[in-house]
Amino acid sequence: MNILTFPILRLLADGKFHSGEAIAQQLKVSRTTVWNALQAAEKLGVEIFSVRGRGYKLPQAVTLLDEISVLNAIGEHRAWFTLEIHDHLASTNSEMMRKLSSGQAHASCVAANLQTQGRGRRGRSWQAGLGASLTFSLLWRFQCGASALSGLSLAVGVALIRALHSLGITQARLKWPNDVLISTNQQAPEKLAGILIELQGDMEGPSAAVIGVGINLNLPKKLKQQIDQAATDINSVSTQNINPSELLGILLKHLAEVLSHFEQQGFSSLRDEWTKYHAYHQQPVKMLHPDGRETFGTVTGVADDGILLINTALGEQRFSSGEISLRAVSA
Ligand code: ATP
Repeated sequence: MNILTFPILRLLADGKFHSGEAIAQQLKVSRTTVWNALQAAEKLGVEIFSVRGRGYKLPQAVTLLDEISVLNAIGEHRAWFTLEIHDHLASTNSEMMRKLSSGQAHASCVAANLQTQGRGRRGRSWQAGLGASLTFSLLWRFQCGASALSGLSLAVGVALIRALHSLGITQARLKWPNDVLISTNQQAPEKLAGILIELQGDMEGPSAAVIGVGINLNLPKKLKQQIDQAATDINSVSTQNINPSELLGILLKHLAEVLSHFEQQGFSSLRDEWTKYHAYHQQPVKMLHPDGRETFGTVTGVADDGILLINTALGEQRFSSGEISLRAVSA
């Protein structure tokens, strides 16, 4: 990436016009250098308006992440965390997986102001944009083996919902195994956040999890159109103005609490709370199988290891998260 791209984007973060000349003077470079740096930003998918005589501007003001504000929002557990904020990363999970293989410390978090190649489950992609999304990955090390972590992704969902509810976003619900939806009686559920967990370690232990989270903050129309399912953002569902650094700090605080609890007591002690948050509990659902088949049933609950229990025409069936994708029957 061009080294001037982010210094210039910081100047443009106020959402106002800045002339090429004023930017060039501030950064002590030529106007052509400014233009080149902004071309590089556009190649990363950042939309920039350029108007002759007025200069450059972003479509709207954006709030970039700020380390001190994140740490303040974590509160008493802040000393647990090692925090790294990047301007741009292809994928926060890929970056953390790379760090994990070189011995990165427990409770490290990498966050990116701009993630350009975010990943979902099974090779799917996660769309994000500058100011549009909060994207971060947390490394958590466990004494137990990877085989004991089957309920982990559901536990992470509980942490996200606790954080969102504490910020007044009480419409946030979970969709098994771990998507965060906004679900009201008035409208079909829309996806607010996704979680991608990657594990490393022996079945016997110790093991480590890289927990990637993407939350939509303010999705521009163009980005929303690139997503092939209904999506929403914090800006559309919150009555207050939520600062992304504060949101990240509050999420990390709740993740630390839930993950410590999960490590000591497993998912079973979080199961009732998870079920309360499940958007499709006791609802008719459709299961999408990797081979394209669709089957139908009604959700009856989840087991202590996070397995989904569904009442189907063949009786109660159990599904693990790798086996199916869950959808409302109307979707
Ligand atoms: P599953 O039910 O199996 O989790 P999923 O479609 O939600 O299915 P994930 O791997 O969790 O799959 O997430 C990736 C999917 O999320 C993408 O294929 C796309 O449909 C959707 N998606 C991508 N970016 C966003 C975003 N920013 N906001 C909401 N949804 C998104």
